[in-house]
Amino acid sequence: MLIVMEQSVPEERIAGVIEAIEAKGLRAHPIPGASRTAIGITGNQGPLDPAEFENLPGVVRAIPVTQPFKLVSREVKREDTIVKVGDCTIGGGAFCVIAGPCAVESERQTFAIAHRVKAAGAHMLRGGAFKPRTSPYSFQGLGREGLMILSRARRETGLPIVTEAVDTESVDLVAEHADVIQVGARNMQNFSLLRRVGRTKRPVMLKRGMSATIDELLMSAEYIAAEGNYNLFLCERGVRTFSNHARNTLDLSAIPAVRRLSHLPMIVDPSHGTGTRDKVPPLARAAVAVGSDGLMIEVHDNPDRALSDGPQSMYPDQFDALMADIRAIAPLVGRAV
Ligand code: PEP
Ligand code: MN
Repeated sequence: MLIVMEQSVPEERIAGVIEAIEAKGLRAHPIPGASRTAIGITGNQGPLDPAEFENLPGVVRAIPVTQPFKLVSREVKREDTIVKVGDCTIGGGAFCVIAGPCAVESERQTFAIAHRVKAAGAHMLRGGAFKPRTSPYSFQGLGREGLMILSRARRETGLPIVTEAVDTESVDLVAEHADVIQVGARNMQNFSLLRRVGRTKRPVMLKRGMSATIDELLMSAEYIAAEGNYNLFLCERGVRTFSNHARNTLDLSAIPAVRRLSHLPMIVDPSHGTGTRDKVPPLARAAVAVGSDGLMIEVHDNPDRALSDGPQSMYPDQFDALMADIRAIAPLVGRAV
């Protein structure tokens, strides 16, 4: 249910409606808009009766939401969500580039890459401290030490940090060091992890599962929003198909599809989406053209020695060239880099 308030309604009226919602054991989610405030209601097991809310002072209308996802839907909030991370903006016409190694391997490696991607014009630094690896014998990440290195890299470069939380146990530790908590493809439907990151105040980047539909992705985002964390953006990173010339099939049509259904920003990860560095620039350029709100790109100063995802990691020089392409294409689709 969505409660639409009168234009320029006084704060006390909004508070009164929230109180009435909570008195019924439900959760109220105020959604400020350009011209009016709306209040989303979650927590109801069955349908709610609009009449129960329409008589409250300040309420214009109570509208049942037809989509299975409520708080992240365009039905509930028409304006695009804009996520602010330090001086960086995701959504609302900005174009945000997140770059860095797949995994934090050492302070030397992380600092070297951080300085290079910053000089190239990246807005945020990525790097996994906790890595979800297919094989238990592969490098699992430096854990806490990796987070400390990322924190020091932020101090060195000023770049905000994007890093993954792989389980509920490590969320608090990751939230302490990260500017954006990444939920990876393999965890897209780890509902206890989604709830847990939803209870932090940190922005969250939710990656699409490798066989998830758009509806499933948005339902997972809803888990995070329902806990009160609306600082949320999505990432397309390729899905599994019969096609075997690339690691995954990057589904760029997800961008316009999500934009129609949801107000959340969405970026594209052509590194995991293709699996080889020669395919990253063309798909990155296509992602800009298709209207993505940003890119996440793996860059390594020595990809041949990388402890994870070396074949898809770009050389810093290649990343410089890609940033020049992004700067040329973005304005054509109304984006500022
Ligand atoms: C990553 O970004 O390093 C990663 C593991 O990605 P994904 O969850 O999309 O596989
Ligand atoms: Mn990776």
